[in-house]
Amino acid sequence: MQSSVLQKEYDFVIIGSGLGGLACATILAMEGFSVVVLEKNHQIGGHLQVYSKHKSIFDTGVHYVGSLDDGENLSQFFKYFGILDKLKMKRMDDDQFDVIRFQDGSQYAYAQGFNRFRETLINHFPDEKVAIETYCDKIIEICEKFPLFNLRVSGENYQMDGDVMGLNAHDFIASLTENERLRNVLAGSNLLYAGVRDKTPFYVHALIMKSYLSGSYKFIDGGSQIAIQMSKVIRAHGGAIYKHKKVVAANYDGAGNVTEVVLENGETFRGKQFISNVHPSVTIDIFGADRFLNVYKNRVQSLENSISTFLVHITFHEKSFEYLNYNIYQHHIEDVWGGIDYDQETWPQTYFVCTPYISKTGQYADSMSIMTYMNSAETAQWSDTFNTAAEQGQRGAAYEQFKKDKEAKVLARIEEVFPGISAKIKAVHSATPLTFRDYIGNKDGSLYGVLKNSNSPARTQINTKTRIPNLHLTGQNISMHGILGVTVSAFVTCFSFVDKEKLIQKIKNA
Ligand SMILES: Cc1cc2nc3c(=O)[nH]c(=O)nc-3n(C[C@H](O)[C@H](O)[C@H](O)COP(=O)(O)OP(=O)(O)OC[C@H]3O[C@@H](n4cnc5c(N)ncnc54)[C@H](O)[C@@H]3O)c2cc1C
Repeated sequence: MQSSVLQKEYDFVIIGSGLGGLACATILAMEGFSVVVLEKNHQIGGHLQVYSKHKSIFDTGVHYVGSLDDGENLSQFFKYFGILDKLKMKRMDDDQFDVIRFQDGSQYAYAQGFNRFRETLINHFPDEKVAIETYCDKIIEICEKFPLFNLRVSGENYQMDGDVMGLNAHDFIASLTENERLRNVLAGSNLLYAGVRDKTPFYVHALIMKSYLSGSYKFIDGGSQIAIQMSKVIRAHGGAIYKHKKVVAANYDGAGNVTEVVLENGETFRGKQFISNVHPSVTIDIFGADRFLNVYKNRVQSLENSISTFLVHITFHEKSFEYLNYNIYQHHIEDVWGGIDYDQETWPQTYFVCTPYISKTGQYADSMSIMTYMNSAETAQWSDTFNTAAEQGQRGAAYEQFKKDKEAKVLARIEEVFPGISAKIKAVHSATPLTFRDYIGNKDGSLYGVLKNSNSPARTQINTKTRIPNLHLTGQNISMHGILGVTVSAFVTCFSFVDKEKLIQKIKNA
């Protein structure tokens, strides 16, 4: 491959415009570096993308976000980016932003703020006051140990010690009480991290629960506004963002530094530093497997990813279904850790239900999203197909039928939760593991990337630095997934290039 000597050399070339890539670009552009973001899709944002179908707007990978109350960590990060006051958000119900619902129809509200959350649960389980208080105290204790989540810096290491990382979520919750229902209520939103009974660490549960308890909001008319507002800040600081730019390879100098990335169409982008927002396993493929030590390559490429999803989107007839200012985590089985190990007869046993807030329909829901688990193996027979808006393809009639059959199963289930809902539905469509694989550019459509594992916590932590001196990583596979986790990962990535004490001070002062 030829390198183009006359081309501009950027301080930073960022591969992928997911939240992690955009957040790095924003931080670095604001710090005065020249940045370019290269995105393979026709739309920026990765999981923040929205699309319109049947005249409704649908989110692909952000339904609600926590930590947005004044002074909370994500609110401060967004203020520092200069986007907080530009985002159109709707605060979810104070007395129930999430509802954990079981097959017998009983439901349990998660209220906003630790005090209200605690009191609401104690009202449900008056004999379990000690267990509920110990649970809340432990969440606060564990979250305190993550400096950046508390807007503090620490030494080099932003990863925690084994005692914190090795505590298993299911086991810790089970140790608090013999009351099975309370155990299941406390872990009832574990779809948020695709919880696996013998693997998910408690710190993952704790960071996510604390985040949502600290101000849960929906994005009005879709979550892509985060990406749009960030892109404006990047451009205002001289940065560039290009779509339809799929990075496929890299060229190196004699010292083993990347000099430029190569796109699918042969175009090249030169840079001093490179940041990959793409799954680390795919990053290794792009930057050349022979450039990485076998031990690293084998570890990263053999890491288990979280399960994928089957996401059903419903469009309602006008004014037929009231907007819900809360989400529902529905479990058709008693054991909330069991829904992920489904079989064909009982699927779907666990799913998340949300009605996006659309300004023009207000008190009525325009649509509903239902997210349930699906193993990528279920769509393996169509894995040699590819289809995105940027690169359209057909997967065939059998695939379409597969989707219709699965949609029908989900709709039959949702009818149990909302009797009569079927008559209110104007149209239905769905996304499978292949949809996520193709749009995000990972290998299996995994929901949240690398699965954290309390049995071998260090193995599932990936450093932002790589063996290639000027190649760095960011995004949901580093640190944590979710809007908050990925934003934190971007700061960790950028700490290699900016004075972290000063940066944290800027965030606090924002
Ligand atoms: C169904 C679903 C629901 C979710 N709901 C929520 C929620 O309600 N709240 C929440 O906080 N989080 C939620 N998440 C998680 C959250 O959306 C993600 O953790 C986060 O957005 C991931 O950001 P990222 O920076 O890792 O990048 P990604 O979003 O993974 O983006 C990576 C980008 O890299 C691009 N790319 C890949 N390969 C190449 C290449 N070769 N060249 C150029 N570009 C490339 C991709 O096109 C993509 O744009 C959800 C996730 C899913 C899947």
